[in-house]
Amino acid sequence: STMKPILSVSGLSVRYGKVEALHDLSIEVGPGQIVSVIGPNGAGKSTLLNAVMGALPTTGHAKGSVRYRDEEVSLLPVERRVALGMCLVPEKRELFASMSVEDNLLLGAYRRKRAGERNYLDQLEPVFGLFPRLKERRKQAAGTLSGGERQMLALGRALMGKPNLLMLDEPSLGLAPLIVKEIFHIISALRGTGVATLLIEQNARAALQVSDYGYVLETGELAMQGPAGELAKNPRVIETYLGLA
Ligand code: ATP
Repeated sequence: STMKPILSVSGLSVRYGKVEALHDLSIEVGPGQIVSVIGPNGAGKSTLLNAVMGALPTTGHAKGSVRYRDEEVSLLPVERRVALGMCLVPEKRELFASMSVEDNLLLGAYRRKRAGERNYLDQLEPVFGLFPRLKERRKQAAGTLSGGERQMLALGRALMGKPNLLMLDEPSLGLAPLIVKEIFHIISALRGTGVATLLIEQNARAALQVSDYGYVLETGELAMQGPAGELAKNPRVIETYLGLA
């Protein structure tokens, strides 16, 4: 593609002590694209997102380059990367259980408020538009939401910060099939909003369906990559990750 990538990772290796979790990985995400990284448990998917965000556990050591909008960010602390528009929604969703849905959403805009943006709440109505269920439950404590609603809240809170690059760690994990469908529908709806999405999933079928491009990660290394539609037709991807359809 002729468009400059919004994210460009090259030669990324991560080790935890003696264990090398990622080896010489290179991936790109173009502006407005949805890119997925699929692969089995332990392949290094979460490690990749945490390294891109600068949020590895202290036992993890990364080397290699992470360029975000033409800037090398690999040495920046996580708050600086957030301020530049990078956002990670971790697998554990990390909501404030005793706070209301609405207050959790408002926290997502906190950085923009602090940065002096006057319209820092401008995403509240669009987020409620994407997630009418959150609007219905705006006064309810986050801790009382269902698993699917919590994932919606985690996504909605991330969107309140108006990120340019949204990184989602297993958004479908532990959710019932109908909710998974809803979550993926929303992810694909984000394509029109200008945010680029890097999606980590074990649900390879759903991930490839909404993605422009895909990478297959196996034991810390790229095994395959290609346009998502092509990967979904690749016999080895079908056999290993999509099951017999
Ligand atoms: P899953 O889907 O099961 O979360 P994953 O693809 O996200 O898997 P990672 O969680 O990135 O994989 O783990 C990659 C490898 O690094 C695994 O072998 C894992 O045991 C190891 N690992 C992950 N986190 C740590 C850590 N904090 N300390 C030591 N080893 C770790």
